[in-house]
Amino acid sequence: MARLTQADLVDLNHKFEERTPVELIQWAHEMFGDRLAAISAMQKAGSVLCHLMSQLELGLKVLFVDTGVNFHETLETRDKIAEQYGLNVITLKPGQTMEEQTAERGVLYLTVEGQQECCDLRKTQPLLKVQGEYDALLGSLRRSDGGKRESCPILAIDEKMNCLRINPMATMDDEQLEAYTAEHDVIINPLHHQGYTTISCNRCTTPVLPNEPKRAGRWRHLGPWSVYCGINPTDTDPANSPAIDLPQDLVDRILGRETDFMI
Ligand code: SF4
Repeated sequence: MARLTQADLVDLNHKFEERTPVELIQWAHEMFGDRLAAISAMQKAGSVLCHLMSQLELGLKVLFVDTGVNFHETLETRDKIAEQYGLNVITLKPGQTMEEQTAERGVLYLTVEGQQECCDLRKTQPLLKVQGEYDALLGSLRRSDGGKRESCPILAIDEKMNCLRINPMATMDDEQLEAYTAEHDVIINPLHHQGYTTISCNRCTTPVLPNEPKRAGRWRHLGPWSVYCGINPTDTDPANSPAIDLPQDLVDRILGRETDFMI
């Protein structure tokens, strides 16, 4: 195995700024094959990612974390996307129902500390169940989302999952996203038409007013200090350059270098 750090990816990230989402997905597929999957929460950008993948017919899986308290519109969007785009959507679930969790730990999402625990139990831990199955995950983070995502890299290290996170739509702005959804009549979570700019669990998501930031509807009851769940590593602030362990030949291929020694 070999170490791959965020610092190793600087040149590649710079080069990839000029690539289109389709080119980046194709690069990822060539690099990782069936060790690549996508992750989508069935929001608008995630729907576009699913549509792009269906057009490319790569046979990649899509991971969806069902927290047990998603809106029914989100689950219906997942089912429509799976059926109409012919995608294999894998649903990952927490170990406990929300009722079981509440009986054991109380209503966690009402406090800042509890929210972090609840998001860990209901979002991060279900994803960690497939840790080791994938070397890379395609996501739909975009810099136009603002906040911590304004500087989101195309390639990012995910230490918890020990994989690469690839955001092929990082440079796609709102106008381009809307143009793509209109041109291809992309399946959209109907909550987006009801004032929800971002969508997560029904306990912690509300619509936003036209003059509010996009993420104002997330954890509104907790105030502006807690606005990310932590399932996306680039939403957190790692103190140092994170690193993962991948096979040596794969790291060499990612970085475009050749191993010229034998052990
Ligand atoms: S968004 Fe709310 S309900 Fe959903 S996992 Fe996080 S804290 Fe729990």
